Amino acid sequence: MTEERIDYLLIGGGLASTKCARTLREQGADGRIVLVGRESDPPYNRPNCSKGFLRGIEDRSEAYVEAPEFWQEQDIELRTRTSVMKLDLDARVAKLSTKEELRFDKALIATGANVRRLNVEGCDLEEIHYLRTLGNSQAIRESVADAEHVVLIGGSYIGCEVAASLSMMGLSARIVMQEDVTLERGFGPDAGRFFHELLESHGVTIHGKDGLARFEGDGRVRKVVTDNGLELPADTVVIGAGVAPDVQLARGAGIAIGESGGVRCNSRLASSVPGVFAAGDMCEYDSIIHGGPLRIEHWDVAFNHGATAARNMLGQDVPHEVVPYFFSVLGDWAELEYVGPARSWETEALRGSHESGQFTRWYLDGGVLKAALTVGRPDDLEHAQRLIASGAKLDDGAQAALADLDSDLSSVGA
Ligand SMILES: Cc1cc2nc3c(=O)[nH]c(=O)nc-3n(C[C@H](O)[C@H](O)[C@H](O)COP(=O)(O)OP(=O)(O)OC[C@H]3O[C@@H](n4cnc5c(N)ncnc54)[C@H](O)[C@@H]3O)c2cc1C
Repeated sequence: MTEERIDYLLIGGGLASTKCARTLREQGADGRIVLVGRESDPPYNRPNCSKGFLRGIEDRSEAYVEAPEFWQEQDIELRTRTSVMKLDLDARVAKLSTKEELRFDKALIATGANVRRLNVEGCDLEEIHYLRTLGNSQAIRESVADAEHVVLIGGSYIGCEVAASLSMMGLSARIVMQEDVTLERGFGPDAGRFFHELLESHGVTIHGKDGLARFEGDGRVRKVVTDNGLELPADTVVIGAGVAPDVQLARGAGIAIGESGGVRCNSRLASSVPGVFAAGDMCEYDSIIHGGPLRIEHWDVAFNHGATAARNMLGQDVPHEVVPYFFSVLGDWAELEYVGPARSWETEALRGSHESGQFTRWYLDGGVLKAALTVGRPDDLEHAQRLIASGAKLDDGAQAALADLDSDLSSVGA
């Protein structure tokens, strides 16, 4: 068994770790940085898995977060196909699946999330897929190549994006979901209906207010049976039922876990153990903007967390104060962008119209802007971010201005 000494150990081969590594170097870290990831690919952008890569219009390498030469140029040691099996935080030693031991000074835990698996009758049949990795995406693409009937379980963004991508590939898909309209859990029924109708107008069939009862098949899945008694033919199934933070390693090491199930961090993304930070999908941090703990599974959040964590690993003592941003793409038909998040809200204001395909929907609680969703009006989001960060209470006139296409948003809440 060999033991090596390193300065910065970044655990998890995803976006958050990669951004952390890059920022450490940009901010002048000159020590030894090692990034350990269990997948065989170098860190990549997961959004490609439900969009261009799934459709077969992008190569695998186009998803990679950094160009191949980055790692050597920046003198960052990337260890793929390697897991951190155990962390001894008293000794500050990580045990790797390669049997090596790394003695580290500072560590980042960015182990991401795992898909939630549905344990129903028939769930082990072939061609029932989940989507988290490039490998999953490739397997779905290969599966649908000889599939006549594709069923997607779940009406949130994974189900909607995959349905749209398959439709762009000339396949018709069905969605089975518990919600009444797609995406309503995040954006409410009015916005949800816009996306729901958009999908339907492109040939996607949606069965709302229904649940998955079981799968039937003959080795390969052949049928999806729903709680309402629908029997849907299916040669390929893709399940998008959410994710759970992967905190197995952190929990085993005795690091505090928060209510959302993520590693509990302060506003500096520091965990309960000195010198150990967290970032990305499994990081629950104290959000100064939201006034409490927040954990979000968005690309942009992982990216920005990585930068904040790096600066705090270098002792800069900076709070994480970015308003979370999310994007999603439905084929070539619509790109939605969102800042927030609003878990609940009292009122909504609409700027533009669904009919025009260009609108921003504002979500307010007690006159305070909590979130905004836009399709086709990206410039509105910088005003939304400013208003969310300020927490300013907007009077009736200001709220009316949000909905008035002729009003100047820079004067709202100023
Ligand atoms: C199909 C798909 C589409 C998406 N589309 C969008 C989108 O359009 N917009 C958006 O905002 N967000 C999107 N997301 C979410 C976004 O990609 C994630 O929020 C982001 O990837 C999180 O990055 P991360 O670094 O925290 O975790 P991850 O990307 O999950 O990386 C963590 C890595 O750590 C590895 N790991 C875990 N434990 C260990 C260990 N003990 N040792 C070594 N390695 C370990 C994991 O295998 C994984 O490779 C999408 C996600 C998916 C799956």
